[in-house]
Amino acid sequence: MWQRVAALISLVMLISAVGYGQAPAQPDWTSVDEELMRHFQALLRMDTSDPPGKERPAAEYLKQVLDNEGIAAQLFALEPDRPNVVARLKGNGRKRPLLIIGHTDVVNVDPAKWKFPPFSATRDGGYVYSRGTVDDKDNLATILMVMLQLKRLNVPLDRDVIFLSEAGEEGSTRIGIQYMVEQHYPEIDAEYCLAEGGGVTRVAGRVKYAGIATLEKIPYAIELTAKGVAGHGSVPLRSNAVVHLSTAVGKIGAWKPDIRLNETTGTYFRRLATISSPAEAERYRNVLVPNSKAQADADEYFLDNEPAHASMLRTSVSPNILGGGYRVNVIPSEARATLDVRMLPDEDPAKFLEMVKRVINDPTIDVRFGARDTRPKQPEARLDSEAFKTIEANVTKHYNAPTLPTMLTGATDMAYLRAKGMQCFGVGPALDVEDGPKGFGAHSDQERLLESELSRFMKFHWDVVVDLARTR
Ligand SMILES: [Zn+2]
Repeated sequence: MWQRVAALISLVMLISAVGYGQAPAQPDWTSVDEELMRHFQALLRMDTSDPPGKERPAAEYLKQVLDNEGIAAQLFALEPDRPNVVARLKGNGRKRPLLIIGHTDVVNVDPAKWKFPPFSATRDGGYVYSRGTVDDKDNLATILMVMLQLKRLNVPLDRDVIFLSEAGEEGSTRIGIQYMVEQHYPEIDAEYCLAEGGGVTRVAGRVKYAGIATLEKIPYAIELTAKGVAGHGSVPLRSNAVVHLSTAVGKIGAWKPDIRLNETTGTYFRRLATISSPAEAERYRNVLVPNSKAQADADEYFLDNEPAHASMLRTSVSPNILGGGYRVNVIPSEARATLDVRMLPDEDPAKFLEMVKRVINDPTIDVRFGARDTRPKQPEARLDSEAFKTIEANVTKHYNAPTLPTMLTGATDMAYLRAKGMQCFGVGPALDVEDGPKGFGAHSDQERLLESELSRFMKFHWDVVVDLARTR
């Protein structure tokens, strides 16, 4: 009798262990938190400032940790000091892979500005202080732990999960994502990717929403060169290049390129309206009404008060460099300006350049594209995809807040992958909106992350990966 009961029990256990859609065992979160912090601090303590980068120690550390766990990791380097790391957990191939990304390099620091040394990973008052805490060693340590836990818990997978740590994200993508996409794409080819670029916004300590990056603008540079006749400063000339150039820059500064919304920005403003004050909500709804006075008024308000929102509405142009003349009594024959252009992903660059020429309307000014580390054209990551829905469900579960798809005004490595047809979503831990202005944000004088939010991000990320990849 007992034998039969025992056999029945083990049969039931076997069925539930391999059962259809069975949730995998959960990690022991207390020990995961400790280990996550250990890897996070180890990575933060490596000075990977870019330039020069020197990401090799961080890459070797990651490889070692993965290899020790039985997850074979490979280094791919265009320059010996700056390797990328790839590791793969095999699934049954029923679905196409999921790629999870973090970058090892960080932006430079001015050590004099730091209360704690910038590569100390000091824990103080619930925060970790270091360059890289929110860009991007938070993602890096988290995806490392996701890989380790998937392997340790032996989670059966419907798709491969691929780990990628990149070098050179901060300004030398040719050795990082560009190199991987152009020369080793089969190693990282996937249906979906999760990378930096999103994050959860807290206001007064409470979560307000999660911004999930689904699209980004494309950076270009436009060079203006005014040519005139050189002469003696005592005899002003109407052809003065400085005058022509500054008039042109003034016209560009006053110009408001057409407003154009896409699925991401439309959904963003619609959802933002649902969690805003009545006055704000009205503007976020008005901006969705094409060619209306209400839209124009909202745009004016954004230009004055919410410039990031104004930029999300259009291809933006910011004159950022100006040069001309060398002494007070000489009329220079040439003056130059450089415009920072952030194009909507569907903008036609050649047509846009023609528009800029028409706005300037001055034959003495040469208008052309300048050299720039740009990005390829890319489609939006789909909001009706399994990945976005999974992310959204887990934002609700872990943060109890709405998910806002966002179009980044800046550029990330996701553009290269989206251009290959991969659907990429930018994610990140929760940050206090007040922390940026205090000088603790990404690329700021100092950088810090709440330990509790790193821990929450880990659980969120784990659930997203498991929900997308485990065997159903
Ligand atoms: Zn970054």
